[in-house]
Amino acid sequence: MKEKKPVGPHKLLKICRRLFFSGALTMLAAAYLIGRFYTWRGNEAPMFLWLMAGAGFLSLFRCLQIASLRLCCPYCGASLMAGGRMPSSLPHFCPDCGKSLDDCD
Ligand SMILES: [Zn+2]
Repeated sequence: MKEKKPVGPHKLLKICRRLFFSGALTMLAAAYLIGRFYTWRGNEAPMFLWLMAGAGFLSLFRCLQIASLRLCCPYCGASLMAGGRMPSSLPHFCPDCGKSLDDCD
């Protein structure tokens, strides 16, 4: 049996950022295309564009959820979210217990 390795905060933040940007891009592209369709032929945007926008939104939501649940100090469990937002980079030391976060993954 394979043991599941816990994901370190650095790796997790990288994954979440990728998910966040691809979600935002998908949503923007879908919104843009929906706007184009509205000006082209009245109010008939195809269903898959709405689904695409929904999928982008879900992926944004999901990555924030993962980040807020799992982005925490591996030593004391303190949240590393910057006031409810996703931080652009992790601090070098845990704000709560002061241990170095640089060598934990
Ligand atoms: Zn800590």
